[in-house]
Amino acid sequence: MTSRQLHRPWFIRSKEFFRSGIGLFAVSVENEELNRSQSVALSTQIPLLYFILVTNSVALALTHLASAPLFLSAVVPAVLSVICLVRLVWWRRTRHVDADAATLARRLRITARLVPLLGVVFTAWALSLYRYGDAYAKVHVAFYMSITVIGCIFCLMHLRAAALTLAVVVIVPFSIFFSLTGNAVLVLIAVNLLLVSIAMTVVLFVHYRHFARLIESSADLKMKQLETQRLSDENFQLANLDSLTGLPNRRAFLSCIAASTLAGESRVAIGLIDLDDFKLVNDAYGHATGDRVLAEAGRRLVEFRQPEIFFARLGGDEFGMLIRGDLSADELMRCGGTICRLLRQPYQVADLTLRLSASIGFAVSDADTVSFELPFERADHALYHAKQNARGEPVIFSHAHESERRRTALVEQALAHANLERELFVVFQPIVELPDQRIVGFEALARWTHDKLGIVSPAEFIKCAERSNRILPMSEILLWKTLRHAKQWRNATCVSFNLSARDIGSLDAIQRIIRIVLASGMPPHRIEMEITETALVSDFGVASESLRLLKQLGVRIALDDFGTGFSSLTYVHRLPLDKIKIDRSFVRDIVENVAGQKVVKSIIDLCRNLDLDCVVEGAEAEEQVQILHELGCSKMQGYLFGKPMSAEAVLALAADEQHSARPAALRTV
Ligand code: C2E
Ligand code: CA
Ligand code: CA
Repeated sequence: MTSRQLHRPWFIRSKEFFRSGIGLFAVSVENEELNRSQSVALSTQIPLLYFILVTNSVALALTHLASAPLFLSAVVPAVLSVICLVRLVWWRRTRHVDADAATLARRLRITARLVPLLGVVFTAWALSLYRYGDAYAKVHVAFYMSITVIGCIFCLMHLRAAALTLAVVVIVPFSIFFSLTGNAVLVLIAVNLLLVSIAMTVVLFVHYRHFARLIESSADLKMKQLETQRLSDENFQLANLDSLTGLPNRRAFLSCIAASTLAGESRVAIGLIDLDDFKLVNDAYGHATGDRVLAEAGRRLVEFRQPEIFFARLGGDEFGMLIRGDLSADELMRCGGTICRLLRQPYQVADLTLRLSASIGFAVSDADTVSFELPFERADHALYHAKQNARGEPVIFSHAHESERRRTALVEQALAHANLERELFVVFQPIVELPDQRIVGFEALARWTHDKLGIVSPAEFIKCAERSNRILPMSEILLWKTLRHAKQWRNATCVSFNLSARDIGSLDAIQRIIRIVLASGMPPHRIEMEITETALVSDFGVASESLRLLKQLGVRIALDDFGTGFSSLTYVHRLPLDKIKIDRSFVRDIVENVAGQKVVKSIIDLCRNLDLDCVVEGAEAEEQVQILHELGCSKMQGYLFGKPMSAEAVLALAADEQHSARPAALRTV
């Protein structure tokens, strides 16, 4: 009791005490868990209570059968026994019934009311038999009442209210009745029962308190377990869901793949979806817009979802799909085509309408695949192919891709152990100016001779070097070698050098390039750096700062492979460019393709308007040159004018040129 409680007036305290005393006789129905446990316990104990009651009553009735009136010795006990047996059967029947809270409470309340009622009736019946029979029969009445009430209180341990009322309604009249008989034995029995009852009440209280606490703590434990389960479910969801799109994430995707391996699924297809030029959306409109586009792309995939396809967002703008069922090439292309079409629909973000495409790479696992790393790598390879050659389309990994992949692995391995300083060299392809086809410069093109692989094309090894981070030392060696040769040329001839995305994507790397230019002794205005759009896409900010530094040095900048990307025009006015190189894919069919001619014409006009130099690459035939010249192009590069040649050949050519305007045959490398 707290000190505040002690300082309350006595009449309030006694009122409270009285109230809590009364409360002991009422069934508490607020705690459902407690009521459920009480009901479970009572369903085994109450049938035993009725069993005790009936057997004891039958025994008492038998000892009074001859002496008492038939009504009291047979009819009353028979009726009461039937009532008891009905209740016994009812309790046995409801034992396994899963009741709701209200039913449980009702069941306990009925029991708590019925118990004192039966107590009163049985007490009245037993005491009414006292008058009949001899001394033994009289003692039997006392024995019957004592043993029965103790047994019943014991059976009602889990329903304290009922046990207490029963004790009161039986023991009070019992004690009074037998004390008034004046018989010493019976008076002692009455006192004895009273004392035993008090002791039993104490036991009852202690037991009931323990029982209630036990239920409470097990309910608490259950709650805690449920809460732990809920939190762990929530964590599992968070750890496996991508919050932006609501799709499963990379971890869930890999688990799904692992699960299908474990389940022994022999063939599944893995698809990798990548949004083309998504980086541009982020750069141009900010990450919030980028996120909205990704969320919309995810929503479209969810909408497309089919039972045999599991979609996930793997990170960035890459989504994955695991396909079961029909894995025929036709079906994969059909499914991939539909997804590409869905993702090509315009994206509406606030008042912007954005257009993007998506490329997909598919790979089907072999029947004997043990790990999914291989199909994953293959799907990645197919995606790379789609990006290079079929943007916005699905590509399935094929045998041709496999040999290419093996070759790439060989190149990668060889490159890792290559002596770049010794094995790399540079060849030069002339750039000429019409109408007299005067050589105005050379483009430096890298070559790598390997002991076993022979001469490897830069189209192969530059990408490998970019992936393995060897590109930076490689660029430095190539630039160094290029400038050493170019310095020997006559004064007006320029040299073009190809910079990789990695070179301009790092200010450190560009500083080293600048140092090489300065140390070479080659005048910077005779150097041109060629960059491609992919170099700008990775980090536009750093790339444009790199170009600014080069420009500051006096080096010229050319945008290479113009027209192959999607957004070339957006860069033209945002960068300090001097030249545009129109990609050779426009030249290939320029003779017969009128639309292609119009595109080239508009690029040439654009360059003229922006005061940019323009070179067309890939001129292989006289007719092409004629058309290009008519379209307004005066500078060209291509096999017709000269294939890439060795540094010595360039020097020899320069000597020849002093004698004729265009050499009859150019030595090629
Ligand atoms: P690019 O910069 O577009 O270089 C032009 C490529 O087209 C060269 O291939 C050249 O040999 C080829 N070519 C020139 N004229 C014609 C023609 O009339 N018809 C045809 N079909 N092809 C022609 P190459 O030397 O194999 O170089 C391929 C690519 O490798 C280059 O494309 C460039 O992107 C890259 N690359 C070359 N050298 C270097 C380098 O030193 N550093 C870096 N980072 N990349 C380089
Ligand atoms: Ca180039
Ligand atoms: Ca080019």
